[in-house]
Amino acid sequence: MQFRSTKPGSRMVSFREAISRCLPEEGGLYVPDSVMDMRQFFLHMDEDTTYPELVSTVAPVLLQDELNPLSAARVAESAFNFEPELKRLDDRLSVLTLYNGPTGVFKDFGISFMAAVMEEMLKDNGQAMILSAVRGDTGVSIANAFNRRQGMTPVLLYPSGSIRGLDPATFVPNGGNIIPIQIRGTFDDCQRLVNETINDRPFADRYAITCANAINVGRLLPQAFYYLYAFTRVKQRLSGDLLFSVPSGNFGNLISGFYAWTFGMPVNGFIAAMNVNNAFGDFFQGKNFVPHPLIMTKTPAMDVSSPSNYERMASFYEEAPSVMRNMVYPHVVDDQATMEALELAWKRYGILLDPHGAAALSGALSILDSLETGSHVVVLATGHPAKEAETVSAATGQTVQTPPRLHILRQKAEPIALIDPQLDALEGAIASCL
Ligand SMILES: *Cc1c(COP(=O)(O)O)cnc(C)c1O
Repeated sequence: MQFRSTKPGSRMVSFREAISRCLPEEGGLYVPDSVMDMRQFFLHMDEDTTYPELVSTVAPVLLQDELNPLSAARVAESAFNFEPELKRLDDRLSVLTLYNGPTGVFKDFGISFMAAVMEEMLKDNGQAMILSAVRGDTGVSIANAFNRRQGMTPVLLYPSGSIRGLDPATFVPNGGNIIPIQIRGTFDDCQRLVNETINDRPFADRYAITCANAINVGRLLPQAFYYLYAFTRVKQRLSGDLLFSVPSGNFGNLISGFYAWTFGMPVNGFIAAMNVNNAFGDFFQGKNFVPHPLIMTKTPAMDVSSPSNYERMASFYEEAPSVMRNMVYPHVVDDQATMEALELAWKRYGILLDPHGAAALSGALSILDSLETGSHVVVLATGHPAKEAETVSAATGQTVQTPPRLHILRQKAEPIALIDPQLDALEGAIASCL
């Protein structure tokens, strides 16, 4: 499979080049160049197929001469010591829990695969510096995934405030490979610095710099694998439509679902659950996309006014507008609907969701009655309920237990440099560590 930019007339690149550059030189974002029918490789899989088995079967077919089956098996084993889990709620409804990784959010799946596949692809003498603007626990996820991987140096740019969840023993001055740097500024300043660095080719090439932000296609492609995994778990009892309900912010998760569909997964539609920051709702209805001012909600990961995957979304819609209109059902929830869905998940089904998963459940329930018998909706539970424990308790009256692996996320750490958001300051800080 080859990749190209969303900008027309761009050069074709390999997967290795796409993940090692992160952003195409022509501008735009990398997308797969072709549609690949992979049904023969996953249609026979069932409940006995483990997640690493699925990944090591599908990934080498996708990446062909870039990743042979033996390498793919190594990647899958080293990336995934956690798995998704499909929980059946009733005949028509399931929840796919994607929060079993080290930081309790679905992003662990894409980041872990990207780290493992980069190490494998670059293992004969390759090096990479993985520069990322991070907030919340994404930095911890990246640090975990790249920790002690050969030739890999993750540089994490944090905005002002405190850095949590990192283990100082993994930092470069202490013998590890991680460089956390605090930026005097906001998350947007960090993001701008990453983009400036990638576009400053002499600097980027000197250190083989790429980024692990959510727009890297190396994170999006592997997210398609858990959609296929869900399919292997529901297919036996499926005689009608299959839909996925996806809580969406920057739309990386939903795009990955589209990829699973282009691989031949029999799916009839996606519910794009959004909160009141739904500027994208207009876009789905064929109107122009105009970002609105941001509103804070109880689903913070969906508080996005200008989704970073906009261009990828738009390229799907340009290619097949009517197909897309029939595939994607936008669903908007306000905080009250989110709270009600949290409560209902507990009272009716006996499960605790996080607010993002609850928003997706709300979307699923809105169409459940219009589906034929034998149809099924899979709700993606993207975050562990303990990460939004206060909201979950308020809605359900339950105390939420934090699993031991998530305790470290609260511990503060000291960055190894504090700099202004400027290229020369960043280069100086990096040079002084190596
Ligand atoms: C990041 C995140 C989302 C949104 O995912 P996108 O790919 O940005 O649409 C939803 N839920 C949780 C818990 C998240 O961390």
